[in-house]
Amino acid sequence: MASTRIENATVWSGHRLPDGSVYSSDAVLMVDGRIVALGETARRLPADQVVDAGGGFVAPAFGDGHVHPIFGGLEREFAPVRDHATPPEIAAAVGAWAREHPEMEWVRGEGFDHTLAPEGIFLAEWLDAEVPDRPVVLRATDYHTVWVNSEALRRVGYATGVTQPHDGEIVLDSAGAPTGTLREWGAWRPVYNLLPTPPESMRLSAVDFAMSGFASTGITWVQDAWVEPGDVATWLTASDQGILHTDIDLALWADPNAWRDQLAHFAAAREQVAADGGPFVTSHTIKFFADGVIESATSAMLEPFCDCPHWKGMPNWEPSEMAAAVAAIDAMGFTAHIHAIGDAGVRMALDSMEHAARVNPPRDRRWVIVHTQLVDPPDLPRFAELGVIANFEPYWSKFDSWQSELTAPRLGPERTNRQFQTATLARMGAHISFGSDWPVTTFAPLEGIQVAVTRQMDPDGPPWMPEERLSVDDALAAYTLGVAFQAGRDDAGLIRPGAVADVVLLDADPRAVDPMTIGAIAVRSTWRRGQLTFGN
Ligand SMILES: [Zn+2]
Repeated sequence: MASTRIENATVWSGHRLPDGSVYSSDAVLMVDGRIVALGETARRLPADQVVDAGGGFVAPAFGDGHVHPIFGGLEREFAPVRDHATPPEIAAAVGAWAREHPEMEWVRGEGFDHTLAPEGIFLAEWLDAEVPDRPVVLRATDYHTVWVNSEALRRVGYATGVTQPHDGEIVLDSAGAPTGTLREWGAWRPVYNLLPTPPESMRLSAVDFAMSGFASTGITWVQDAWVEPGDVATWLTASDQGILHTDIDLALWADPNAWRDQLAHFAAAREQVAADGGPFVTSHTIKFFADGVIESATSAMLEPFCDCPHWKGMPNWEPSEMAAAVAAIDAMGFTAHIHAIGDAGVRMALDSMEHAARVNPPRDRRWVIVHTQLVDPPDLPRFAELGVIANFEPYWSKFDSWQSELTAPRLGPERTNRQFQTATLARMGAHISFGSDWPVTTFAPLEGIQVAVTRQMDPDGPPWMPEERLSVDDALAAYTLGVAFQAGRDDAGLIRPGAVADVVLLDADPRAVDPMTIGAIAVRSTWRRGQLTFGN
């Protein structure tokens, strides 16, 4: 028997009292991976180990409802393209890295700021000036936009007169020549197919880096939101090597062009993970992309973009195909996890789920629409009606350069101020869960919670769409109980006797500090099933 008592704490249980406040206590006892007692009882019972929280704040550990651990962990192996202020600065960093790595035939970078060039169009020649002789492939922090140099364009065979893919855009200049910017898979997948796969040792070290990073911010469960066939083996090896410092569910990516052929693979992958994955990994989920992103004008819209009057974006699926695919995987017992950004993308996702619920027998579904950026008003109540979880990346709900440079000009003022309606959907009875979409943005839940409750960029404000701000209690709940519900972990997400002992200890009560400093609260310890995964 292993037991730990945390005392001298504010224990935020997550359990709502009739008046809407959250039940809190001053101590918690964990025995053999489960919460056994709170308060007075917890203090009376014996424990092998006693942690004096020194007035700290204890909560259920966080979950991340949408994240990309391998992509994120690999970023630091490539040219450092994040955190530069101009395209020439990015190009210079790429050039310096390329000169230090003459052995790399392909120069890669992940996570550049795609708001730095007008209309998000980055030119091959800016990279040619630094790296003329080797192919350069850079992916933006949105993971939907790619910037390549002329050598990469030459290798993939993109030149004047190139045929546009149906599911992507090779951005052309006024003379019809490729600029160097590629939007969505259809355009960039052919380039990525030419790239050598990073060695397995590098991928495993990426997993280790990501999973220990998550644990250090209080996370004990994550949804890997984009798993390709080759990734399953990496996760199984990671499990064998003992580097799964957080639990993970794998969402297998459904290819709009080949999903029927994938069904057998999905079932086999789920079985293999259940048989060989150990206690920390499952594969219950199928990932769909309904559309792209607003910043690239690839999200699917009900009405045209303002800066491009005939263009309604780029659905990734035929609606009838998505409905058939969601029904098929739902019948197999998988959960649908659908990326939907534009209001037409969200509607297609909801329609697909409604169809699946009609043609398949009733069951307890935990299906999710992720990002939920722009929802047409008549579709808002459908989340609660259909039992669809709305997953938000709360860090995005502030008026930053993504909004000012790329999104607002495309949406116009009316739609701009209807994005990320977190509080509205919660009031309508929808389940809300939070995620980070790291490496798109930071995985630290407290940084996301700060934005969810302020929707502010800086202390002097102003808040963006202040009516959509959440209380700290509600934001904590979305990052704890909300994600546990999404995961189908009905014994997690609350601190109550019998629950899984997934617990985080913070330095301060997020309700008691200036909301603009919530992101700076230190995480002291993380326990998964009563075992420390971070801190001491
Ligand atoms: Zn994502």
